Amino acid sequence: MPDAVDPLLLGQRVVAVLETGLRTATYKLATLMALIDHCIEHLPDDPAAARTVPIPDLAHRVLELYWRQVRPFEGHELRQSTGERARIPRAVTAFRSAAGPARSLAAAMNSAPPAYETAIDEITLCLAQQPLFRLQRVPGAQTGDRFLYDDSFLHSGISRSALRARGDAIDLLPGVAAGLARLAGLLKPALEIMWVDDVRRMNKFLHADVPDIAGHLFGRDRTALAAVRGPFKEAFGPHCFYCRARLPVDNPIDHVLPWSLVGIDGLANLVLACARCNTDKRHALPAVDIVDRVLGRDRDALEQIADQIRWPTEYQRVQAAARGIYRGQPPGVATWAGYKSSVRWDLAFAPVWLEGTTS
Ligand SMILES: [Zn+2]
Repeated sequence: MPDAVDPLLLGQRVVAVLETGLRTATYKLATLMALIDHCIEHLPDDPAAARTVPIPDLAHRVLELYWRQVRPFEGHELRQSTGERARIPRAVTAFRSAAGPARSLAAAMNSAPPAYETAIDEITLCLAQQPLFRLQRVPGAQTGDRFLYDDSFLHSGISRSALRARGDAIDLLPGVAAGLARLAGLLKPALEIMWVDDVRRMNKFLHADVPDIAGHLFGRDRTALAAVRGPFKEAFGPHCFYCRARLPVDNPIDHVLPWSLVGIDGLANLVLACARCNTDKRHALPAVDIVDRVLGRDRDALEQIADQIRWPTEYQRVQAAARGIYRGQPPGVATWAGYKSSVRWDLAFAPVWLEGTTS
């Protein structure tokens, strides 16, 4: 059996590829983020295992990333590439228009399934022809250095049918899936910073003092989250999930698994919090028993709220992401256990959801 990939070496190679040459589009960054998220949610039991990743799954995650970003920023459409054809933002925008004024991506998928399929098809093809084909190649080089997946069948002119004939998937090399999942906490913030830099470079009207461009690109959607507050208070009581303090009318909604790490907005990852706990927790990884408590909430109540406000619970996804995150943590890492309190992550405390396999 091959050894697990050294995550440090893997991370260095990923960063080296990204730091070489000016990017002409943000697609490589989006593809890597999608790949990392996939690996977190589909962590193999064996750290040295290979993994097949469906490209349409990556396309959905990429669509999710651009879903917010294609909204106009201060009246401008943000450029995400230096070329004329912005294929991915264009596909996302077309789907957004077809879906009408939908509040969330999930609602848009419900209201316009054919437009969603068209967008996924176009993004799948674009990923295969551009970022997936080029990700492991230093710009200008004829051949790549395959350290993530086999890209020998990809080229800039591959057709949709040829891609389908190859299974519509890429095969990650042994150990890469576990390695990328372990690196998520380091790589994802770095990718976001590179992305914000790229968007500034590609949009000359964005000066250094422009308001929160990072928030526009990657922030959580506070306005939309407000829809959760009322139903959650009714179902679970008007108390902070963490400290049980009674909540005011405008309390924050907190992502239990940090938004910056997994970006999951499903109801199963959301709780009511007081401002004090919310601010103190920020991007910290919560203690495992907090995640255990959030996954143990009344699922019928969550499903009812999901129906009522047309907002998916994404329970399975939250559970899979939690498993991927904690299994990749080194023992002894500090986790947030409540206001100004932390505990060390200890493998001995292993709730049911940490076991088993997700595929
Ligand atoms: Zn609190």
